[in-house]
Amino acid sequence: MKTIALIAHDGKKAEMVAFVKDHIESLKKANLIATGTTGSYVKQTGLQVELKLSGPKGGDAQIAALAAEGKIDGIIFFRDPLGKHPHEPDIQMLMRICDLYDVPLATNPGTGTLIIEGLLNDKEND
Ligand code: PGA
Repeated sequence: MKTIALIAHDGKKAEMVAFVKDHIESLKKANLIATGTTGSYVKQTGLQVELKLSGPKGGDAQIAALAAEGKIDGIIFFRDPLGKHPHEPDIQMLMRICDLYDVPLATNPGTGTLIIEGLLNDKEND
């Protein structure tokens, strides 16, 4: 089973919930983890999600550590390009880890859809 991490900044949480609803049948086939607040919203769609700490409290860093350990197949991270974030160093670190270990990282719904189609809708990848 593929593991997908979901993270959305506050200005992007509604977009994340809409995205998850659009892809709910595919996401049911994945093991989902998420930063705390994002995960609590995603849970309201009925999906099972493992919650990590909230992003500003270290959740992004926890997800980056799992990515470095090879435990995450893809990350969908809707960043708010208009917001300021106290955990900006953690965000940069997460993106660096994804590049270091070649972990697919989507930062908007367009690439998020491609990750889901690539990882979850391809029989060979089951
Ligand atoms: P949150 O964290 O899901 O706990 O809000 C996301 C973030 O801000 O990185």
